[in-house]
Amino acid sequence: MTGTPLAVEGLRKGFADRGATVQAVDDVGFQVREGEVYTLLGPSGCGKTSTLRAVAGLERPDGGRIVIDGTVVTEAGRFVPPERRDIGMVFQSYGIWPHMSVFDNAAFPLRVSRPKVAKKEIARRVESALAAVHLAGYESRMATRLSGGQQQRLALARALVRRPKLLLLDEPLSNLDAKLRQAMRAELASLQQELGITTLFVTHDQDEALSMSGRIAVMQAGRIAQEGTPREIYQRPGTRFVADFVGTTNFLEGTRAAGGRVETPVGALDVASGADGGKTGEQVLLAVRPEAVRLHLSEPAGTPNVITGEVERVMFVGECVDCHVRVGETVWVTRQDPGLTAASGDTVWLELPADRISVIGSP
Ligand code: ATP
Repeated sequence: MTGTPLAVEGLRKGFADRGATVQAVDDVGFQVREGEVYTLLGPSGCGKTSTLRAVAGLERPDGGRIVIDGTVVTEAGRFVPPERRDIGMVFQSYGIWPHMSVFDNAAFPLRVSRPKVAKKEIARRVESALAAVHLAGYESRMATRLSGGQQQRLALARALVRRPKLLLLDEPLSNLDAKLRQAMRAELASLQQELGITTLFVTHDQDEALSMSGRIAVMQAGRIAQEGTPREIYQRPGTRFVADFVGTTNFLEGTRAAGGRVETPVGALDVASGADGGKTGEQVLLAVRPEAVRLHLSEPAGTPNVITGEVERVMFVGECVDCHVRVGETVWVTRQDPGLTAASGDTVWLELPADRISVIGSP
């Protein structure tokens, strides 16, 4: 029986910077399950690359433990070098060698690996890796004559020829233009699924993280702020930072009242998720996604959780319109059907369904 493909415990890494220490990774722990895409998501500088580099063995952490498939690769006094970790890596700059053919690029890791791999076996494994990334038939083409998306797939094939236990991807799509990036996102996700390879993925792009991951760890200042499935992260953000970083959110401060209600400056609101936790009188932050807000052009009778405001702006964005509504001091962003007839200056009513309100404790 093998262990968890990847377990990281209490990982710490600091860097000296002008006399001070930047704590790039501050007590990070997580486990990646067999066949899963686990994503480290966060803004620039939050420590995701340092974490991934520590897993790869490219960085020596100051503390903590890293276990790959049951083998301790990093612990006090123990450090297994990258080439002896069972991993494949694809970075932002794919590191494709332009002067080599597709075949030679993909074969490279096997040619330098020890113990030596027989020529026939190399050919067999390269063919199968290239087929897996849909590059069969391109073997003799020079790498420079591939499109951006094909180069990205070649980098993936090269990471896979050694049949690693774990695939590490660091912003692998960020060099592609927007359209190709979107296509490759789907392609990479289905390749990962076909191959069933356990993957640790690093990105600052929330859409990429939401669409490709089994689970996400949102990182903030060297720590994991929240871990969960894409739906949990998006629909039930645990902190203001997570709600703000992942998607657009409307915030409303309030105080817990009796009976699962929260008093806010625009009235008392029912919050489905607030009934169980928290004490009356506690300060909370309510978070509501733009698409969760139902906009009414006349006051809906007998509907709870309705606030009223004035339309500031209606922005057509293709498949929907973003309607900005001023409610007191704040402007609410709401996402509506493109058929919406409201215009600037109109009075509208915003219904906030109780089950679509996230309650965040101690804002
Ligand atoms: P990005 O998306 O910009 O790569 P990140 O979330 O991956 O950011 P890291 O690259 O892990 O973040 O960096 C975390 C912190 O550690 C940052 O403040 C960064 O400046 C610092 N840092 C990273 N590597 C080094 C280094 N080699 N020397 C000094 N400081 C470093």
